[in-house]
Amino acid sequence: MEEIEIIKPDDWHVHFRDGKILEAVVPETTRHFARAIIMPNLVPPILTGDDAVKYKERIQYAIPKKDRFLPLMTIYLTENTNKHELCESYQRGQVFAAKLYPAGATTNSDSGVKDIKKIMPALETMAEIGMPLLIHGEVTDKEIDIFDREKVFIDTTLKSICKNFPNLKVTLEHITTKHAVEFIKNQNSNMAASIPPHHLLLNRNAIFKGGIRPHYYCLPILKREQHRQALLDVAISGNKKFFLGTDSAPHTLLNKETSCGCAGVFNATYCIEMLTQLFDNCNALENLEKFLSINGANHYNIKNNNSKIKIRKNKKALILKKHLNLRKEKITIFDPEFLIYWTVEDFY
Ligand SMILES: [Zn+2]
Repeated sequence: MEEIEIIKPDDWHVHFRDGKILEAVVPETTRHFARAIIMPNLVPPILTGDDAVKYKERIQYAIPKKDRFLPLMTIYLTENTNKHELCESYQRGQVFAAKLYPAGATTNSDSGVKDIKKIMPALETMAEIGMPLLIHGEVTDKEIDIFDREKVFIDTTLKSICKNFPNLKVTLEHITTKHAVEFIKNQNSNMAASIPPHHLLLNRNAIFKGGIRPHYYCLPILKREQHRQALLDVAISGNKKFFLGTDSAPHTLLNKETSCGCAGVFNATYCIEMLTQLFDNCNALENLEKFLSINGANHYNIKNNNSKIKIRKNKKALILKKHLNLRKEKITIFDPEFLIYWTVEDFY
């Protein structure tokens, strides 16, 4: 029987939502991950350090007693974000980073930034104090083809941010294209990227396989096979600029299976198992720990976790649960429809 042991992973990009959904999904992350960066796109969004502290308390209340887990909180940048408040909330330790959403880019991003020039003073402050900027890297112009929005954002907006603020620590979140991979590789050491598991596992055909498949609809949307391959190549290479951010983004089944369904896949439950299988299939298990547990912490200048997890390869394929049950509703668990033999056995 094959077995590997790695430093306990971190999830550098997750959506916990709030209320009943939060209570249901938090244990799915805290079971296997030691830390996670929590996205601030609630309604209303997390705009201040005090908002973040209250949200963190609601998260902590939902963590099972047996799990040791640290939520790293974020502030939602708007054109009205006060740079002094931002600075204070970071220096007091209330928040870990700030998130830039172009207005309208994804779920609950209506308060996002329309004119990037308006947040330049905030970015300048962040560069000075070492506060990381997390970016949803897509333009929101409806005239731009949905499959090109990441590339256009890199060309029209991200290049200028990098040029103006070379000392700013930046994470381009949930990258989905080979353009993003190449761009990140060519930037200085302050710039890195998170990669979601579903973009490593599936290409855009999955959305239309045998009919319309709402549980594979997410934003940024799945891309062509050549992009999936570029993401996979860099993830399994161990390149220190790239690390896991699940972008696990739960919606209830009713909000997914409707005439205008929400974007997002809920992938927290089997994330480690799926990625271990994927790295195994690519003969790259020796770089799994870098992608899951080391590269992200290094990028954010924080220590690796002390604890470890043990992952075991079984003879029989894992049978995935289909849903996470809420009291009256349910959330569909992401299923990449490939065989997974690895299971997380132990952590200590
Ligand atoms: Zn996200």
